[in-house]
Amino acid sequence: MNKTTSSHSPIHVIGGGLAGSEAAWQIAEAGVPVILHEMRGVRGTDAHKTESLAELVCSNSFRSDDATSNAVGVLHAEMRLAGSLIMRCADLNQVPAGGALAVDREGFAEAVSAAIANHPLITVLREEIRGLPPKDWDLAIIATGPLTAPDLAEAIRAETGADALAFFDAIAPIVHADTIDMDICWHQSRYDKVGPGGTGKDYINCPLTQERYDAFVDALIAGDKAGFKEWEGTPYFDGCLPIEVMAERGRETLRHGPMKPMGLTNAHNPSVKPYAVVQLRQDNALGTLYNMVGFQTKLKYGAQGEVFRMIPGLQNAEFARLGGLHRNTYINSPTLLDHSLMLKSRPGLRFAGQITGCEGYVESASIGLLAGRFAAAERKGASPVLPPVTTAFGALLNHITGGHIVSDDEPGKRSFQPMNVNFGLFPPLDPGALTRPEGAKRFRGKEKALAKKQAMASRALSDCASWLDKAV
Ligand SMILES: Cc1cc2nc3c(=O)[nH]c(=O)nc-3n(C[C@H](O)[C@H](O)[C@H](O)COP(=O)(O)OP(=O)(O)OC[C@H]3O[C@@H](n4cnc5c(N)ncnc54)[C@H](O)[C@@H]3O)c2cc1C
Repeated sequence: MNKTTSSHSPIHVIGGGLAGSEAAWQIAEAGVPVILHEMRGVRGTDAHKTESLAELVCSNSFRSDDATSNAVGVLHAEMRLAGSLIMRCADLNQVPAGGALAVDREGFAEAVSAAIANHPLITVLREEIRGLPPKDWDLAIIATGPLTAPDLAEAIRAETGADALAFFDAIAPIVHADTIDMDICWHQSRYDKVGPGGTGKDYINCPLTQERYDAFVDALIAGDKAGFKEWEGTPYFDGCLPIEVMAERGRETLRHGPMKPMGLTNAHNPSVKPYAVVQLRQDNALGTLYNMVGFQTKLKYGAQGEVFRMIPGLQNAEFARLGGLHRNTYINSPTLLDHSLMLKSRPGLRFAGQITGCEGYVESASIGLLAGRFAAAERKGASPVLPPVTTAFGALLNHITGGHIVSDDEPGKRSFQPMNVNFGLFPPLDPGALTRPEGAKRFRGKEKALAKKQAMASRALSDCASWLDKAV
């Protein structure tokens, strides 16, 4: 039954998870009818347990709600400013969790489901979509998430030309560049190779003596590992082996693999050859994030911090994301999507949520929010107005649609990895934006880092408010 009472023709949203529900809500609130296609009720996934829209498949936490100095807290605040359904229902179903926003999962999902069901411009169809949207769905959003049903995943794979779409995803940790100790580390590409687009100094290198290497290998082998889940039956992507699995294969394996010291000279101590080297490669165009090359891992999060901070130069490292292994489905968005999340090869078809390469409930919902707004603007004859990159919305969108650097030095390997929102994705502050607190003699370390986050947060919220005033 169609409840449409608008002169616009509908926009189709496939997938009623965090992203799809938010996208549908934003479109409908803009006065455009929506048909939301959700398969649960007809076909389940390996992780969802109910038929509710926006079911949280694992933790009940939306993480920090601190909008003054935490990037995901800023994203919460921006979503609230933009009239997010997901945030409204989360706030209404909050349970005590310190500084985090945690929710009663059933109450939350029921609230989202009821709001969608009761909206006069939204029709929910319980059906599995098995292929790309038909051509007469001129505007559509695919928001089918990490567990996209196989037939649709195959159709997307065929359209995008990817070798694989769903795989056992091995993720290496990503470090905030300004927490790497450059008195110990140095910039150099192996054999000073300049390569296409490089400078010969593209990597940050961390040197290890034999003693430090041995201690590191022991810690890797002893570290707490995450277990495999039943639904994780997909093979490793590109044969990416976790670093601790390599370490277990022999004491020298890492030194002949990702930690090989060849072609590298310690700029701080050129006469002493490092026994092993950990390399980090620039991960975003801003140069604020570096990923640990070849360090995909299934060590538990706590163990990762402890073990990786044993690496000289990373003793104070802060991680923008830790490594992990899980089944995932996502497209290579930086090359496939335009800045409004539209598939370049299929005008009118957008992607949203985790399938675009963001990670987490809040990030997925926020990308749904943007995709919904962009599609609604288009339906109303306007061009989508993009959020500025200084906002959490814009920083995440920019990472997905182009801010990430696509690595070409490891042929065949997909370097774009799902990412939580973090301040490393935001452009640096203007010079002079940080002023030393009145009366303080020194302004550095943790105090300065906090001031930087606070300044980025306040810039984001003010720029978000201006963007929302302009956007359709
Ligand atoms: C096992 C697991 C645990 C996770 N744990 C966490 C966590 O603790 N915290 C966190 O922040 N994130 C977690 N994530 C990531 C989390 O799933 C996503 O961040 C978030 O749910 C993604 O939102 P989404 O809307 O993109 O996808 P989803 O919320 O998964 O929604 C996608 C929807 O599309 C539907 N669908 C799929 N294919 C079709 C089709 N062909 N036709 C119609 N409908 C279809 C699905 O039924 C589903 O309802 C986890 C993911 C998995 C797989």
